Amino acid sequence: MKAPVRAVPAAGSGGCSAAKDAEELCARHGVRLTAIRRKIFKILLQAGAPLKAYDIIDRMREDGRRITPATMYRTLEFLLQQGLAHRINALNAYVPCTAAHDSGGLLLFVCSDCQKASELNDPVLYDSLRARLGVLGFSLDNASIEIQGACPSCSAGKSG
Ligand SMILES: [Zn+2]
Ligand SMILES: [Zn+2]
Repeated sequence: MKAPVRAVPAAGSGGCSAAKDAEELCARHGVRLTAIRRKIFKILLQAGAPLKAYDIIDRMREDGRRITPATMYRTLEFLLQQGLAHRINALNAYVPCTAAHDSGGLLLFVCSDCQKASELNDPVLYDSLRARLGVLGFSLDNASIEIQGACPSCSAGKSG
């Protein structure tokens, strides 16, 4: 079964329905989307750009909720494990996952200009890249591959 190739904004609008999906996903996984997990997932959704853990703590505080870094990292770890968020190592930041993809191969495009991230759900490209690396004797230690460059809107701004 081949998933259609598409690029979806990893962080953007459509918060309500995505948050509802998160609930369904957790129910399917037999885990609980607690209030704090839901809140942090929503903060990621509403951010529109990758957030660092401390950015999230700040936003929680603006919302009148105090949270320790330990709780934050535990919650982020939960969201990563459930496939509700992705970590962008290049930025040391997190984006919500709103795409319907398996937890397998993931290509994350990070714009060097505006730092927005997009998920490229292209399992064929991912698998061929991994296979090619395998031939060269390299193995991937991470489920996601980060690609940096200019996003469509930043590219348009440059050429225009
Ligand atoms: Zn995703
Ligand atoms: Zn950009």
